[in-house]
Amino acid sequence: MQIFKEIAPLKAFLVEKRRLGQTVGFVPTMGALHEGHLSLIQASKKDNPVTVSSIFVNPAQFNNPADLEKYPRTPDTDIAMMEKVGCDALFFPDTGVMYETESTVRFDFGNLEQVMEGKFRPGHFSGVALVVSKLFHIVEPDYAYFGQKDWQQFAIIRQLVRELKFNVQLKSVPTLRESDGLAMSSRNMRLTPTQRKKAAVLHHALVHASGMLKNGSAIEEVKMHVQRTLESDHEIKLEYFEVANSENLKLLNRVEESVSPILCIAAFVGDVRLIDNMFLSR
Ligand code: AMP
Repeated sequence: MQIFKEIAPLKAFLVEKRRLGQTVGFVPTMGALHEGHLSLIQASKKDNPVTVSSIFVNPAQFNNPADLEKYPRTPDTDIAMMEKVGCDALFFPDTGVMYETESTVRFDFGNLEQVMEGKFRPGHFSGVALVVSKLFHIVEPDYAYFGQKDWQQFAIIRQLVRELKFNVQLKSVPTLRESDGLAMSSRNMRLTPTQRKKAAVLHHALVHASGMLKNGSAIEEVKMHVQRTLESDHEIKLEYFEVANSENLKLLNRVEESVSPILCIAAFVGDVRLIDNMFLSR
């Protein structure tokens, strides 16, 4: 795997690949890799002769400075994991390469970011859109791969690509889970062993809520049930549980209002903020 710290040599590498008619798949990450990240790289490798990944902990998308500081960083094991799955190139820039000057560009995605993550993390998606735009301009991928775990992020990037006419096709990859159902996340490594056991409750709550909705329970009733389940443990604090239309993220009052509802949850386990979601199959 070739590692690029600067933009120009990466671009030269990609020009050569494209001259040979090879498509480029791109997997942006913030590092601290787990099997979920690797599944995105594997999906890209299936579709493309060339796969580029990136590691960049993007300051612009952290609304909480402590969260940015505590974000796990494990570059040596990340590189070894990427090499093992056969990633072709890694873009691993320093902050100064991505932000030569402090950025004044802001994005506003309207309704898409007024709920859930956008509501609780003001400015987060503007920062995501900024860094993804920069990365798309640098890599110019044919395909880009994102995890379903961050569904709202996927919906926002899809809107970004439509509006700014990026010439890239987006792919959403299913969430990889631990054996107890907990969605894999870089943040899981910050949980204590006890918290790690408790954290599976996010997934279990989604499964239970999905069953209740399929059996005809009202969304309001299900919300109260989820709140009670999570907060029966003093170390867990529910931030939101919502049922939304997965296409436009409008919050639903009744599941019948959408053909593809999605259940989304965010909660603190200790001081670690975790998210998860699940499509409601009907
Ligand atoms: P991150 O490093 O957290 O920014 O994530 C990089 C990419 O990996 C994003 O597209 C995430 O949605 C995706 N991702 C994170 N966790 C998982 C998971 N458990 N399964 C599949 N993809 C994931």
